[in-house]
Amino acid sequence: MSLLPENISETVIGIKRIWQRFYPQIRKQRWLLTAGCLGLIMEVLARLLVPIPLKLIFDYIIVPGDRTLPFTIPLIPETNTLVLLTIFTIGIVGATGLQAAAAYVSSVSMSVASSRIITEIRAQLYAHLQRLSLSFHNQARSGDLITRITGDTGRLKEVSITAAIPLVVNNLTLLGMLGVMFWLNWELTLIALTVFPLFLLTTLKITRRIHGLAKQQRKREGAMAALTAEAMGAIKVVQALSLEGMLEDSFLDQNQKSLQEGVKTQQLSAGLQRTIQILIAIAQALVIWRGVQLVQQQAITAGDLLVFMTYLKTFFKPSQKLAKQTAQISKALASADRVMDLLNTVPDIRDSRGAIEAPAFRGQVSFHRVSFGYRSDHSILNNLNFEAQPGQKVALVGPSGGGKSTLVSLLLRLYDPDEGQIRIDGHDLREYKLESLRRQITIVLQDSILFGVSVRDNISYGLLGASQKEIEAAAHLANAHDFIIRLPQGYDTILGERGATLSGGQRQRIAIARAAIRKAPIVILDEPTVGLDNENERSVSEALDRLTQGCTTFLITHDLRTAISADRILYIEKGEILEQGTHEELMSLASGYATLYRLQSVVDVSSKSGVLY
Ligand code: ADP
Repeated sequence: MSLLPENISETVIGIKRIWQRFYPQIRKQRWLLTAGCLGLIMEVLARLLVPIPLKLIFDYIIVPGDRTLPFTIPLIPETNTLVLLTIFTIGIVGATGLQAAAAYVSSVSMSVASSRIITEIRAQLYAHLQRLSLSFHNQARSGDLITRITGDTGRLKEVSITAAIPLVVNNLTLLGMLGVMFWLNWELTLIALTVFPLFLLTTLKITRRIHGLAKQQRKREGAMAALTAEAMGAIKVVQALSLEGMLEDSFLDQNQKSLQEGVKTQQLSAGLQRTIQILIAIAQALVIWRGVQLVQQQAITAGDLLVFMTYLKTFFKPSQKLAKQTAQISKALASADRVMDLLNTVPDIRDSRGAIEAPAFRGQVSFHRVSFGYRSDHSILNNLNFEAQPGQKVALVGPSGGGKSTLVSLLLRLYDPDEGQIRIDGHDLREYKLESLRRQITIVLQDSILFGVSVRDNISYGLLGASQKEIEAAAHLANAHDFIIRLPQGYDTILGERGATLSGGQRQRIAIARAAIRKAPIVILDEPTVGLDNENERSVSEALDRLTQGCTTFLITHDLRTAISADRILYIEKGEILEQGTHEELMSLASGYATLYRLQSVVDVSSKSGVLY
């Protein structure tokens, strides 16, 4: 509709999109929402009723003339003015009471409904975020994501509670009043409306600017949260490199700009309110000027003029709020956009059409001409080919940055290869449902991440719903049971709390227990013993031996001594498998692997004999 001002139509489109996107959640609350709407309608009717008793008092009691009441009240003679007065005054309280009760019902039911809707959307957003692919998370800033979950969803609620509902009530009231006003006297109504176009124009112009500013401000808040999260996440590095000042400056800069935008928004809306105030005064003056003449000509009664004036005041009051509410809605719509953007981001790694539940794997893994790059213009892995038989141990060695971790990420299907195929038991990974694939692969990293929950929960995260027996068996396998039961609360000790700080080796053994409980046929170990002292290393290695028993194992390692016993060693450099075979085979090639091995032996011998070169 071309007559519709741009930002109103934008708002309508925005609300429509929200409605469509969240229809399932909204539908669940339909009864509460219906109660809310009925309350709204009642409220509007009651609002229209409020000045009527006063009109009756004016026209039939104060200045009765020869007028008689247009209706009769049973049992009460019209001449008994005291009784009539009492009834009408009670009417004033009654209408206001009715309005209050209706407003209460509508606001409570609407706010409960919208809180429920928001809670559900927030949960959905959280779940969705966790399922978005690593390539998304590599690029997204976590602070920004956090603002979307906590801040933006909250603002979405404003669409319904603080802004949209009052907006609807006010507009309905407005229409109702217009109707009654026209019915009372069309001429006065038109006079009152003369300022309306001016009013609309100002409101729309300013709210459009407020909308733009609000969007910018939200973006900036996201950036600030991201900056904070990054700085706090890397606080060690920040302090070690003395970056505090530099980071503070960029934070201050953003903060300052956000302040300026905030002030500007407030200035604009305050200015708008004042302009509207003046417009209302003008309208009232015009109506009184003509209204009194009409009363004198007896075209309308004094009571009519009174109703007119009251309506006029209430007529512009909601319109005045209209500006504020449109601004709030604009803000909320900007937030809603950010939430919907996120929800509409489709994970690029997801179950393909027709994906099947993976059967229990035997553990044969093969790469066929696999190429991959994190960015399309920069390839990291080139044409990888190898095969591992069930139960074999494959060591991935080579210089840092060669692509070893990337290779195992592909096996876990954290990313999909750009070219080629990865197969398990002869089938492309993409034929299986993601969950059923990952369930059969388990992983132990160099710096295993434990969560701030109990030891028991940390282990059971490997197999949700695991029994105590399974948890303990896994801990036994991981050489962890003995030290766990010596912790202050044993398996119930919350990690990260005071007194429960674990050594690197202990953390690693809990991580191994978590990996073991999955009983997966494929195991990935990414430098699991790096950084451990001899004592701990022995105990962790023992646990790892048990974990990998009978499993197809991929071991990323820099320590070539741990690679010697592997059934197959892949020597990877610059994204290519340059050599593959057993230790003896690679040694006899006398190339990259052999050189690295000899170099390490020299360093090993020298450090053992205490000589440092
Ligand atoms: P390795 O495990 O052999 O040390 P990686 O697989 O970690 O090697 O890294 C291989 C290359 O990929 C490196 O050049 C690294 O910078 C790059 N890389 C690793 N992870 C990412 C990522 N998430 N986004 C972009 N590039 C990455």
